[in-house]
Amino acid sequence: MSKIAVIGAGVTGINAAYFLAKKGHQVTIFENEKYAGMATSFSNGAQISACNSETWTNLEIVSRGLKSMFKSDAPLYIRPFPDFSDLSGTFSKYMWLSEFFFTSLSGNHKKNSEKIFSMALKSRELYLKIIEEENLEFDFLQKGILQFFESESDLEKAYLKKGWIESMGVEWDRLSFEEIIELEPALANNKSIVGGIYTKSDATGDIHKYCVELGKVLETKYSVIFKYGQPVQDILGQDRPIVVTSNYEHTFDKVVISAGVTTEQFKKKFGDNFRIYPAKGYSITIDMDEESQKAAPFVSLKDESNKLVCSRLGSRLRVAGTVELDGYNKDIRENRVKPLLKWVNNIFPKISTENFLPWTGLRPMTPNMLPVVQASKRRNIYYNSGHGILGWTLGTSTAKSISDLISD
Ligand SMILES: Cc1cc2nc3c(=O)[nH]c(=O)nc-3n(C[C@H](O)[C@H](O)[C@H](O)COP(=O)(O)OP(=O)(O)OC[C@H]3O[C@@H](n4cnc5c(N)ncnc54)[C@H](O)[C@@H]3O)c2cc1C
Repeated sequence: MSKIAVIGAGVTGINAAYFLAKKGHQVTIFENEKYAGMATSFSNGAQISACNSETWTNLEIVSRGLKSMFKSDAPLYIRPFPDFSDLSGTFSKYMWLSEFFFTSLSGNHKKNSEKIFSMALKSRELYLKIIEEENLEFDFLQKGILQFFESESDLEKAYLKKGWIESMGVEWDRLSFEEIIELEPALANNKSIVGGIYTKSDATGDIHKYCVELGKVLETKYSVIFKYGQPVQDILGQDRPIVVTSNYEHTFDKVVISAGVTTEQFKKKFGDNFRIYPAKGYSITIDMDEESQKAAPFVSLKDESNKLVCSRLGSRLRVAGTVELDGYNKDIRENRVKPLLKWVNNIFPKISTENFLPWTGLRPMTPNMLPVVQASKRRNIYYNSGHGILGWTLGTSTAKSISDLISD
């Protein structure tokens, strides 16, 4: 049994702590915030989307990104000009972008996507096991994800992937408008929909509730120690790592870094060879009255043309999207929130958007979109981070992998 510190109580850290504690290690989690799941794992799109986990590193996405670069309200936005008040941040962004373009040109998109699909499938299995074993309640719903299209040619293009996607053991079923309405009557008034792709085994759930609920189980059943409100300022020591907070220095056998976008700072200190840059996204969570609940979908939705996802979480409706490469600021900009509200008003006019909570979070993105699950150059330090757009989907499988790597 080892004494292990985990830095970060987002979905990646809390899951890592779970698998480590199950193996009998003595685990302590250090978390900046006062509760678990308060940073990027707070209000995301809610999709555990094993069948929808293709990476974006292909030339088509890159060319779409380039086209939308100069529009400030486009779903993809990259601030093209240097920020002279933050030259090192600007440099990191350009380096990240060049690696992203290089990966897109390298022809590794398919191979990388296949790795992600396999992790995502394993992750879903593990979630189902954890839910059963630990009796967690987090508005989990396995009603599938429906990707809908308003253009025949976009639908055809998506359907062409059927053979490839099904060869990885997941479903990719094409539905006509009539079949969509039968599956999800809440979409009945959207006559512009021409069809969709339905992946019935995909699921949704509230990531913040999951982190909080699993945190309670870790504390009570697995004796994990939580140090909330204690940011880790440094990690010292050449062999046994010493975790430094403002009050204490704690010595451990090993440390796992799951610090979201802050992982980059630790990586710089240890000279490790990967890059994580924040990809800012937005969500709104609508508190639905009874009438609105009747008009809301149960099937989770993906609107590829607007790059938005929508998931029901009990009596709440979550709509999330946008990718902004513009540093670490977490300001909530009105012109980013408005398209999300407008989308709900267009697709579900009977849902009242009077009570909603806007939110923004920073996805910890690597340029090849593969998470960083590896040992550091510094002895006894490990990373489980960089999950980008799919941290909720991949959260358990990478946590299990890092726990296996450490324990073996
Ligand atoms: C708008 C949006 C929609 C999304 N939708 C989906 C989706 O539908 N499906 C999906 O799979 N993924 C989705 N994602 C991605 C997913 O939410 C993230 O990949 C995931 O939450 C990242 O988890 P994390 O644990 O790596 O980071 P975080 O949740 O940010 O956790 C890191 C934790 O580390 C703590 N920390 C940082 N530095 C320190 C320090 N020095 N000391 C102590 N603690 C520290 C932070 O406070 C934080 O709590 C979405 C993301 C966004 C923004």
